[in-house]
Amino acid sequence: MDYRIGVIPGDGIGPEIVREARKTLDAVCAKYGHHFTYTELLLGGASIDVHGVPLTEGTIETAKGCDAVLMGSIGGDAKTSPWYQLPPDKRPEAGLLGIRKALNLFANLRPAYLYDELRAACPLRDDISAAGFDMLIMRELTGGLYFGARRTEEVDGVRVATDTLSYSETEICRIAKRAFDIAMKRRKKVCSVDKANVLDSSRLWRQVVEEVAKEYPEVALSHMYVDNCAMQLVMNPAQFDVILTENMFGDILSDEASMVTGSIGMLSSASLNETKFGLYEPSHGSAPDIAGQDKANPIATILSAAMLLRYSLDLDEEADAVEAAVRQGLKEGYRTGDIMSEGCTQVGTCEMGDLIAARV
Ligand code: NAD
Repeated sequence: MDYRIGVIPGDGIGPEIVREARKTLDAVCAKYGHHFTYTELLLGGASIDVHGVPLTEGTIETAKGCDAVLMGSIGGDAKTSPWYQLPPDKRPEAGLLGIRKALNLFANLRPAYLYDELRAACPLRDDISAAGFDMLIMRELTGGLYFGARRTEEVDGVRVATDTLSYSETEICRIAKRAFDIAMKRRKKVCSVDKANVLDSSRLWRQVVEEVAKEYPEVALSHMYVDNCAMQLVMNPAQFDVILTENMFGDILSDEASMVTGSIGMLSSASLNETKFGLYEPSHGSAPDIAGQDKANPIATILSAAMLLRYSLDLDEEADAVEAAVRQGLKEGYRTGDIMSEGCTQVGTCEMGDLIAARV
């Protein structure tokens, strides 16, 4: 099959890690007989350097014409980079927020998976990490508290700040459907996380999720309060498959879940809209401290490419092959510096990319 893939190398280590992910995608094409046409797009600091702004209409329009976009990371060192002398709406990060909005990417997916080979980096107790975990946090990205009306005012001489948490059933329904669709590709379990004992928005969330669940009889739905979920993530993470939650809860829980894996260079992510289109990127930033030194771990980006295959192109077998190639490389003892441990073989960004591509 032919597919159009937008590629945003971005800043810092971005170009290096994207180059390695492309090697893996090329290996997939060679093995399974697909053809990917890549179009490079500028975003963030790289776009500021050329166009003076972090995001152009041209980038948005070209991205819209692609089946999916793979991104490295954007941004520089805030203390030294001239990009951060610009007003906030002209800085690299504004480009990322802008493209997410322009492409209506309302569903954010962050998997948290504990590789047996990397268990030593997991900060949880041995008896908990021994059970392993493989979960995916599905966070609503364009509604809720971060997008509601807000104001700060003085009432009777006292400063008062107000934020509004609002969700419509349409917003809840579309993210819930996404979560159930993805659960169908996994272990068929959805845990919806809310605060329905207190918040009206959570009570509606729960009702709508229940309604959507009726369309997915094969998926087991459970509900959990967010405070309990924060505890369960460190007490028994193995219980979770897909966690579905609203914007702010997801912001906090996805960071917690990713940190219990202990390896920032391994964490992929995806942001999806109502179509099959998605923007795929590692969860980490552009690591300017190690850029251009062949030190960056490319695995988070390679696993993001695997998500692209699975969720935007429906190429599940090919995505499985990429994930298995990553596992195989780790099993054979290859490590970049960030995940290095005794007895393993340290390799650079490029060699890790070659090793994984060769194992697809
Ligand atoms: P960071 O994730 O870039 O780096 C944090 C630490 O982790 C650094 O020590 C870095 O060397 C290390 N690290 C990160 N990725 C790694 C990898 N693949 N392999 C090995 N080590 C890795 O976070 P930061 O330093 O806070 O931010 C740097 C820049 O990235 C900032 O401009 C920030 O705004 C931007 N950022 C971008 C995104 C994005 O593009 N989505 C996300 C987060 C941060």
